[in-house]
Amino acid sequence: MKIAIDGPAGAGKSTVARRLANELNFTYVDSGAMYRALTLKALQQGIDLNDSSLLEKLAVSTDMHFQNQFDGQIIFSDGQDVTSQIRSPQVSEAVSVVSAHPGVRKIMVQRQQALARACSVVMDGRDIGEFVLPDADFKIFLTASIEARTQRRVREMEKRGYNADVDRIREEIMARDKLDSQRPVGALRTLPDHIILDTSKMTEDEVLQVILDKIRRA
Ligand code: C5P
Repeated sequence: MKIAIDGPAGAGKSTVARRLANELNFTYVDSGAMYRALTLKALQQGIDLNDSSLLEKLAVSTDMHFQNQFDGQIIFSDGQDVTSQIRSPQVSEAVSVVSAHPGVRKIMVQRQQALARACSVVMDGRDIGEFVLPDADFKIFLTASIEARTQRRVREMEKRGYNADVDRIREEIMARDKLDSQRPVGALRTLPDHIILDTSKMTEDEVLQVILDKIRRA
């Protein structure tokens, strides 16, 4: 069984996807973490983020794998734990430039599909329902107001020990929304078969319950 969860930054996708995977005993795949890990490596190597051919080579040559834990997921890039580093403001600000390259997306989509082939998954991202798992059993689109999403990101950053500047985070989210929804390939958009949920006024528990009810009823 495959469950796709798409939506913009801060809509609550990763928390809900992880909890849903725990409830159903599925594997959780955070596709955004893969784009973030690639971006981190490109920044560390000083690669020009507009150089699609160099980024594609980097994507092919980077080993990425996940280790699931009850309260989260560890991502290894070339064997190194980069779970915390990929959430830095520098990576957040650059990731949508890297993920816009069609060649980079092609490589990442293939990797994500390979991960989903092996087991039942809940995968979250932007293009999961449309390109990565077009035959998913459930396609959910989580969204929320810009203020709700900013506040969630602020809390998340503070929890991770980063100094959260509200205005900077709001701007970063808006800039990412724009880049992620306007790129030529793999753009963030709703599909006719998406179940759309506005989570602005919902708690995590409520969102999880609504999704679980829909799955169990089906
Ligand atoms: O989910 P998260 O906000 O961590 O994703 C970081 C970035 O990775 C997104 O803003 C987007 O540019 C990119 N991404 C993507 N396709 C996905 C998942 C994430 O382009 N399936």
